Amino acid sequence: MVFNEEIFKRKSELGGSIELICGSMFSGKTEELIRRLNRARIAKLKIEIFSPKADTRFVEDALVSHNANSIPSTPVDNASAILLLSSDVHVVGIDEAQFFDDELPDVCNVLANKGIRVIVAGLDMDFKGRPFGPMPAIMAIAESVTKLHAVCVRCGNPALYSYRLVPDEAKILLGEQESYEPRCRICYHS
Ligand code: ZN
Repeated sequence: MVFNEEIFKRKSELGGSIELICGSMFSGKTEELIRRLNRARIAKLKIEIFSPKADTRFVEDALVSHNANSIPSTPVDNASAILLLSSDVHVVGIDEAQFFDDELPDVCNVLANKGIRVIVAGLDMDFKGRPFGPMPAIMAIAESVTKLHAVCVRCGNPALYSYRLVPDEAKILLGEQESYEPRCRICYHS
């Protein structure tokens, strides 16, 4: 199914909405978030972008994708801080949503109920293939869910898992590019 952005733009003018962009690492989530936000900016809508401070990819308050696209964003300590910083905006973008606390779904609902278009991007599964943080709850309450896939480095099929190459139990690991590779279901379990 092709995501119809125009429908959601019109809808946001009426009542707000939640869009979720999810997938494994290297699936292009941040690029898709940036694409939608740039279109909103061209439409002269006022946007704010947030990321969790825990995100180790953070460089100088900018949202950075693997393709080195970047867009200014505000790092916040917790989800509820987004509410305080989102007055008088049309569109709120949230990246690396999996690292936020469990308040994030409620925060998204409050924003959308105020008429704001909320676009959330994040990892749907951790490296063990488990639903990641607040992501499942946001999937349940979103108007639209876009699941992106990377390319399996072993066989070339669409990849839905982020396979960790080094033995480390912590969910957050520095140097993600070197520490993970995208794999399909078969190659992940082999
Ligand atoms: Zn594979």
